[in-house]
Amino acid sequence: MEYLFGPVLSRRLGLSMGVDLLQYKTCNLDCVYCELGKTICLASCRSRFVPPVRVLNEIKAKSNDDFDHLTFAGSGEPTLSVDLGEIVLQAKEIVDAPIAIITNSTLLMDPQVRKEVALADIVLPSLDAITQKTFQAINRPASGTRIEEIIHGLKAFRNDFDGEIWLEVMLVKGLNDHEADLIAKVSESIEPERIQLNTVVRTPTESVMPLDKEEILKMLELFPGAEVIPDWDWRVPIDIRAKILDLLSKEPCTIEEIEVLLHIERNNVIKYISILERDKSLSRHKFQGKLYFKTSKKE
Ligand code: SF4
Repeated sequence: MEYLFGPVLSRRLGLSMGVDLLQYKTCNLDCVYCELGKTICLASCRSRFVPPVRVLNEIKAKSNDDFDHLTFAGSGEPTLSVDLGEIVLQAKEIVDAPIAIITNSTLLMDPQVRKEVALADIVLPSLDAITQKTFQAINRPASGTRIEEIIHGLKAFRNDFDGEIWLEVMLVKGLNDHEADLIAKVSESIEPERIQLNTVVRTPTESVMPLDKEEILKMLELFPGAEVIPDWDWRVPIDIRAKILDLLSKEPCTIEEIEVLLHIERNNVIKYISILERDKSLSRHKFQGKLYFKTSKKE
């Protein structure tokens, strides 16, 4: 597969089958915290980056697989692809899973982009700044990009879109935390279904610092009702590890089966399986479109 990746175990989107409409790494921002590395192609105009027919063929090939969302994300900003709307439209005819788009919000000021993004079931836009100075410092946009226009675009999108908006706010120590109160007020005014606070947990492009656990929990006073995405307790408790490995040594199971059989909440199953897969205690295989996990031989 060239344009589809996963399914990725995502704490926000469950089993997420990714669709990448870009070439590495194409974005109209160059965020200091980006986990993909420095933006190679700082593009401000929409274009075609990959052949739509081949993307759709890959979506068809994966259509019977088991995943919770088909997610447009990947090597940069998906709304830069002029094919986004058409591919989402056709993908809806092919897959049953809801369609999610992760976007940096910059192009939502364009009515055509809003129309295309509104074809999704869930949109996960981001907003990290309110003032132009902070926007420049944290998101390092292509020239001419104005934060007030992006905020206007987000509000206009809310008016156009009946689906779920999960607004992500990435907080970086010393860069945008000083205007968190302003970000909170504007985030509320956009009226998203969810506000999700994040901080730098994966390797960032620049050596920027995350907020620590206490600092981000304190942010909930400014963002009442928001969710906190990062999980500082990134380990599997010994007893749960033993139960999962015991179960999966007897028979391969899906995420749902682990959830039901061991009475563990789905988000935690995803977290634990990610950890155990990363340390090679588990391996995955696909059978009749479903993703199964089993204990690796070394266990
Ligand atoms: S918008 Fe996303 S892909 Fe683009 S630089 Fe920022 S974090 Fe990276």
